[in-house]
Amino acid sequence: MQWFQYELTEVLEMQAVDLKEGLTSDEAAKRLNSYGKNELPEEKGDPVILKYLKHFHDVLIYVLLVAAVITVGLGHYVDTVVILAVVIINAAIGFIQESKAEKALEGIRNMLSIKAAVMRSGRKTEIQSVELVPGDIVFLRAGDKVPADIRVLEAVSLQAEESSLTGESDAVEKQVLSLPENTVLADRSNMVFAGTSIASGTGVGIVVVTGANTELGKISSAMASVEKLQTPLLKQTADFGKLISVVIVISAIAMFFIGYWFHDYGTAELLLAVIGLTVAAIPEGLPAILSIILALGVQTMAGKNAIVRNLPSVETLGAVTVICSDKTGTLTKNEMTVTSVILTDAEFAISGVGYSPEGAIQKEGRQVQLADYPTLERLLVCVKTVNDAHLLKDKNQRWTVSGGATEGCLLTLVEKADKQVDALSVIAEIPFDSAYKYMASLVEEDNQRWIYIKGAPEKLLQLIPDDERAKWEDKIKEHAKRGERLLAAAMKRVDSYSSTIDHEDLVDGFEFLGLAGIIDPPRDEVIESISQCRKAGIQVKMITGDHKETAVAIGSKLGIGDGQRALEGSELDAMDADQLAVAAVEYDIFARTSPTNKLQLVEALQAQQHICAMTGDGVNDAPALKRADIGIAMGIKGTEVSKEAAEMVLVDDNFSTIVNAVKEGRRVYDNLKKTILFILPTNVSEGMLIFISILIGTTIPLTAVQILWVNMITAVTISLAIAFEKLEPGTMERPPRKPNIRLLSGYAMFRIAFVSLIICGGILWMNSVLTARNYEVGILQTMTLQTLVISQLFYLFNCRSERRFALNRGFFSNKAAFLVSGILILVQLAITYLPFMNTLLGTEPIGIQYWVWPLLIGFSVFVMVELEKWFVHRVMRGYLDRHMKNE
Ligand code: ADP
Ligand code: MG
Repeated sequence: MQWFQYELTEVLEMQAVDLKEGLTSDEAAKRLNSYGKNELPEEKGDPVILKYLKHFHDVLIYVLLVAAVITVGLGHYVDTVVILAVVIINAAIGFIQESKAEKALEGIRNMLSIKAAVMRSGRKTEIQSVELVPGDIVFLRAGDKVPADIRVLEAVSLQAEESSLTGESDAVEKQVLSLPENTVLADRSNMVFAGTSIASGTGVGIVVVTGANTELGKISSAMASVEKLQTPLLKQTADFGKLISVVIVISAIAMFFIGYWFHDYGTAELLLAVIGLTVAAIPEGLPAILSIILALGVQTMAGKNAIVRNLPSVETLGAVTVICSDKTGTLTKNEMTVTSVILTDAEFAISGVGYSPEGAIQKEGRQVQLADYPTLERLLVCVKTVNDAHLLKDKNQRWTVSGGATEGCLLTLVEKADKQVDALSVIAEIPFDSAYKYMASLVEEDNQRWIYIKGAPEKLLQLIPDDERAKWEDKIKEHAKRGERLLAAAMKRVDSYSSTIDHEDLVDGFEFLGLAGIIDPPRDEVIESISQCRKAGIQVKMITGDHKETAVAIGSKLGIGDGQRALEGSELDAMDADQLAVAAVEYDIFARTSPTNKLQLVEALQAQQHICAMTGDGVNDAPALKRADIGIAMGIKGTEVSKEAAEMVLVDDNFSTIVNAVKEGRRVYDNLKKTILFILPTNVSEGMLIFISILIGTTIPLTAVQILWVNMITAVTISLAIAFEKLEPGTMERPPRKPNIRLLSGYAMFRIAFVSLIICGGILWMNSVLTARNYEVGILQTMTLQTLVISQLFYLFNCRSERRFALNRGFFSNKAAFLVSGILILVQLAITYLPFMNTLLGTEPIGIQYWVWPLLIGFSVFVMVELEKWFVHRVMRGYLDRHMKNE
């Protein structure tokens, strides 16, 4: 027999557990021991050696390997060894970086581990789902990931989304009755399965199978797909690498024939030169350094409460042009207090703040007696009964809520009454969902049955006669204008044989009890963040299920919107695509929205070329989060499903964290760009140097070994300093970058050519002067090497800032830059003056006066690039700006 075939009582008996009590912690520990953890065996992945070898699979590396083979043929074994050493070291660096990045991502994934609400020793607690054991009683609600294979014991409009198991994309209704033996997986409606999710409703179930034995475990023991470390930018550089290889091979061949036909080089010498060129022009270290920068970015963001679930998002974040944010809890503190209660004929003020039950329901400054206001008592009974939250004291003796803040503050309200108000016994309920914005319970009192409902006022007003609505609407508007979040309560008598409750029962015949006005103060830091967004050219839009006036009032406190206009969800629904496109950009506040409105808005904004970040917490928000360029889920109150759909999860649910992540995204992107601008001139100038030398028939100024030295020392060592470059002032005062902009823009290519020409030209000039004075080759090569490295060192300080003068106030802000500079100088002295280094690299000790040349050329690179920055960013920009204005 299988689990779905048994009766409920049988299941409970076989699992030896009491529904009300759950397992004791001792028993759970025992079972955990015998059944093992509730997780799928980890995917083995490639063996380490294969992972390492993968780093040789790169066109540029192949070219180097061919070069190594040729050097063997020529008998230049030192060159062979060095080239191979570089290839191996390079692969090692790539390998180490990849494993580090993978570890970081894994650590971050662990931060997002799934939790489950269970009954243990008679108390509802939350545990990590890996600790679930067969027999655990689990509570299920919309948005949960199902943590194990579970037999359903109670179901209230419970539906599961099982496409990951069955391929069926529609949600399936769940129930509790036993099923016949030959029921196929897709029809086992009394079970929910690991790896699927709860689409709507609530339920209680008992874990029957865990870990690898679940249906999910059976079909694949390897669900956890390893995320690819590929981003648009890394892809661009990979393509670029292929392009470079082609260019290099072509120019190497061209060089060979030019040298062969027009000059009298020997074949061996030419081959060596060709190898030199190939080795020189290949930016071996670039891919590794770029992924280091990205991985560091992910880690920094995680340190600032933003968990980015995949690397590409780090780049995308920097390009965000609009952030659509939930109001409650993200823009506001989610610390709610009921401050007013409104009945037909009376209004009360509530004293006290927070969830602490201290305070009173007052009229004209005096505590009111429930005996005098029967409707008030009904309202309190309603909000206490139709409620899933609990008030409790945390370890600092402060009152907090377990459950939703909106519900918690209502419990506090009830506690403030002059006498004890009890909840009624609930027979059935409809849980709250922001798609329909109410929650209702079927209850029994005095042998009669009632439906109590609480929810958004405009929804509840539809349940009462037309002529009663008008007077409520005025009151609602008045309180909403003060920024109060409003919640209404209503009740209706039903047949005493009713035992279920459905949305069809909530159509009419209700008595409207009154309203509760709730204050949820804006987060202080958000005001600053929003003004930062404005400066950074990022629009902020508020999307809320609350009343329009409430949204506008909160918006104007925060600096969102114009304090007047807001669009309602129903208005959005009525629009066609063109109107939507206009409205989505035009309006900043969207009120009384449903989750589908979010999707509409994302799509409309994207159609206008916006890069859209969108927050969400509920299960219904998942489509919008998936669709957004950066879907953002809430770490605290977000559902598992929303977290899975999101690119980023906020540990603290705070809007300011989004803005910080965007800032970090811009910094990372800038640093990637700077790194590329920094590294490439080394390769280009070396390539040019060799090419021109062959062309004009002079001696080749560097050996292959020396070239590799220069490349490794600049790409892998000093360029690392740029990864630690701080955010430049002004970065958050510029509009977001265009998302489709090419990494190697016209300007970047110009800069690379410009710097290469200065370095290459300087060296050719130096060499011609020195050759004329009959210096020997060893000295010449040493000085060429020093000039290349020292020029790059100077150029590093140019590259630290994209458009500002290099000697700015942030000059000392990046300690890494000075550390690597110091190390570099020591190393360069070592290769010049240590005898064994001389042998290895073919360098020679040079007299102190010789250093003038490299320093002079390096310094002129620095000065020329600073002049170029000034010209491009000041003079030309200024000219263009004026020109534009005149038009
Ligand atoms: P938001 O997330 O923008 O705050 P919600 O969807 O949470 O919007 O809430 C929209 C409206 O639904 C609220 O203004 C309130 O009237 C009502 N509401 C919110 N939470 C509950 C709840 N737990 N039970 C009943 N009604 C609620
Ligand atoms: Mg909400």
